Amino acid sequence: MLGNKAKTSEAYNRKTINNDSFIVGAFKNSIDGLTDISQDNRISNFKLRDIAGSIMHDQRVCKCGKVPTSGKVEASVHDKTGKAHYSGLQSCGSVWTCPVCSSKISERRRLEVSKGISQAHRMGWESLLVTLTFPHSRTDNLKELLRKQSLASRLFKERAAYKRMRKEYGIKGTIRALETTHSDVNGWHPHLHELWFIERGLSIYKLRKQLYEAWSKACIDAGLECPSIANGVDVRGGDFAADYVSKWGMDYEIAKAHVKKGKKGASRSPFQLLVDYEQGDMQAGALFREYAEAFKGKRQLVWSKGLKKLFGIEQKSDKEVLEEKIEKSTRKITIHYADWMAIVKYKAQAYVLTLLELRSKYEVYQFISQLKNSMHPDTKSNSFEKFRVV
Ligand SMILES: [Zn+2]
Repeated sequence: MLGNKAKTSEAYNRKTINNDSFIVGAFKNSIDGLTDISQDNRISNFKLRDIAGSIMHDQRVCKCGKVPTSGKVEASVHDKTGKAHYSGLQSCGSVWTCPVCSSKISERRRLEVSKGISQAHRMGWESLLVTLTFPHSRTDNLKELLRKQSLASRLFKERAAYKRMRKEYGIKGTIRALETTHSDVNGWHPHLHELWFIERGLSIYKLRKQLYEAWSKACIDAGLECPSIANGVDVRGGDFAADYVSKWGMDYEIAKAHVKKGKKGASRSPFQLLVDYEQGDMQAGALFREYAEAFKGKRQLVWSKGLKKLFGIEQKSDKEVLEEKIEKSTRKITIHYADWMAIVKYKAQAYVLTLLELRSKYEVYQFISQLKNSMHPDTKSNSFEKFRVV
C-alpha cells in the first residue's frame, strides 16, 4: 500500500494531471475529428507517462520526454511517414513503466521477432506458441511470485526432460516473453509466452503432455503451487505464433479497448491500471506501483543463446533501439528552453507534434507562443480561436 506522503502527493498530481489549461483545451477542440489513430495513441501515451511518473515518483519516468539534454529541443518529421518526433530530450527507456518508451521499444522488438519467424519458416522450421502459467491468489506478493517463476523457468530449461524434448523435436531456439495481468479475484498473474522454433513436425497432444509434466515439477520445486492440467500449459501451432507477435507489446491498444468496454473486475494489464487510476481508482495506482517495483530490472524478451545470430539479427540494448533512427527525417522547428518549459508546463508535448503534422510551421510557433504568454496571468487571450477549423 502507498504511504501517507505518497497519497498526498498522488492527490496533488492527479489534480495537476487533470487540470488541462484553457489553451490546450481549445487546441484539443480544434483538432477534434482530424487526428488519426497513431496521433490519438501518442496523446494518450504521453498522458499515461505523466500518470506513471506521478504514481512512482521515479525520476527517470518523470524526466522522460520533458528534460532537454541541451539548451534546445528539435521537432522533426519523418520524410516517408510524415510522423513528427522530438530530439534533444531525455528518455527513460523503461519497457515496463513508461507507455511512450515501451511502445517505441516494443514496436522495434516486434519487427525483430517477426523477422525471426520469417527466417525460421524460410529454413523450413515450424513456430509454436507455448504458454506457461501457475496458480496464484489475490494474497500473493508479486515480487515473490516473480522470483519463484524465474526459478521454475530456469529449472525447467536446465533439466533432462527439456533436453530430451529439444532433441526429439529439434528445438532450434526459443524467445521468451514475460507478462503480467491483474484481476481483483485472483490477484497478479505473471506468465511466460515462448516462441519455439522446431525442426521436426510433432503431435501437439504429446508435446503438451511432456511439457506439463516437466513444467509442473519445476513449479513445485520452485515453491509454486502445482499448475492444473487444464491451465498450466498451452501449446499452439501455426498462425497463433505470428498472431501473438503481431499484437505483442500493444498494451495501450488493449488498455483503450478496456476503457471502451468499461469492464469491472476483469483482468487488467499494467497500463490499464494507469487508465483506471486516472479515472479515480486509487487502488489501481497502488497496484501499478507494486508492479513497477517488482518488474524493475526484469528482462521482457529473452532470446535463447545464438538464436539472433542464427537469424542474422543484430544484438541491441533497449537504449540503442530507442535511439536508433531508421527513417530519414527533416528538422521542422527548433524550440528554445523557455518555450519548451511552457510546453511542458501545459503538458502540450503531444499536441505540438500533432500540430506539426497537421498544420504549418507558422501555426506551431503561434501555438507555442500562446502557451508561453498564457504563463503570465495578464494574458487571458482567446486568440487561439483563429486556429479553429471552420
Ligand atoms: Zn520513457
